[in-house]
Amino acid sequence: MTDSTDTSLPVSFADPENLVIVGSGPAGLTAALYAGRAGLQPLVIEGMMAGGQLMDTTEVENFPGYPKGIRGPELIEDLRSQALRFSTRIVSDEVTAMDLTGHPKRLTLASGDVIRARAVILATGATARYLGLPSEQKLRGYGVSACAVCDGFFYRDQDVAVIGGGDSALEDALFLTHHARSITVVHRRDSLRASKIMQERALSNPKISFAWNSQVLEVLGDPADAGVTGLRLRDANTGAERVLPVTGMFVAIGHDPNTTLIRDQVDLDGAGFIVTRGQTTQTNLEGVFAAGDVMDPRYKQAITAAGTGCKAALDAERWLMEQSS
Ligand code: NAP
Repeated sequence: MTDSTDTSLPVSFADPENLVIVGSGPAGLTAALYAGRAGLQPLVIEGMMAGGQLMDTTEVENFPGYPKGIRGPELIEDLRSQALRFSTRIVSDEVTAMDLTGHPKRLTLASGDVIRARAVILATGATARYLGLPSEQKLRGYGVSACAVCDGFFYRDQDVAVIGGGDSALEDALFLTHHARSITVVHRRDSLRASKIMQERALSNPKISFAWNSQVLEVLGDPADAGVTGLRLRDANTGAERVLPVTGMFVAIGHDPNTTLIRDQVDLDGAGFIVTRGQTTQTNLEGVFAAGDVMDPRYKQAITAAGTGCKAALDAERWLMEQSS
């Protein structure tokens, strides 16, 4: 048993493993906690983005059990330590290929290791979406970012824009008030999708203003020079164009589920989320379960991810028991 938080230590693999969990956000780590306590000795492959999206989240105020709130990375560390208390092993590696159709399942890691597993829980999360403009791609890392928490610090006393009208956009805007001089939330409609409390906070913050009905046509600037210098915006009602002078653009327009490796094997919905059966986490493949943002187009909360992680571990445990009886 590897009961250590040091994932640089070599981990020995069973052949086959009982249960491999792919992903180490709240879904994967909660699945590991439950499966570990059930004695399944789960193996977590934590991936390149260990901890998932919570690692980019400042204050989490709505995870039950933390009355004063908690920083995202600390919440992950707590979940991780709790999972490691039992028989979980965590590997700092990335899955590069999966064959989930047969038995046992086969997972190839970036290190070259091939792991065979009786059951698999997919908890690979979701990735930030960009607008898809060539100018945006050109300036990524030079003033264009999808992570205000990671990059906000670099915009001290500068004017920046946040794109989007959901909770992420307003959370980013509010976070950026600690660094930037002004934040313009650029939204394509005239009303916000974000929750009421976030709207109230953003609308009442003197550093935050809104560019309503505004589409970003182009990100202006030169990566070889000063980076982003402004955004060319079009008013959706009048068609009028204008330049918003900013030195940073934070894109916060949602996320896409991380399903590249399994999209030809596992049933997905129209938006790419894994489809699970009824109230369970069972996918279309026997012995393959899904948890967290990769299967949740609706709620996308840390607590719902943890909840589905719990369900996936219980579903996997029951399925494994049925196979061996
Ligand atoms: P979201 O709720 O889907 O909002 C995405 C926003 O981006 C929408 O306002 C959408 O505009 C806009 N958008 C999408 N594609 C666009 C495009 N191509 N160009 C311009 N704008 C575009 O995503 P989210 O804000 O990431 O939130 C996801 C979930 O996580 C939600 O359930 C949210 O409540 C939750 N969340 C909660 C918190 C919190 O409680 N602190 C923080 C972050 C996220 P339209 O409105 O016009 O569709």
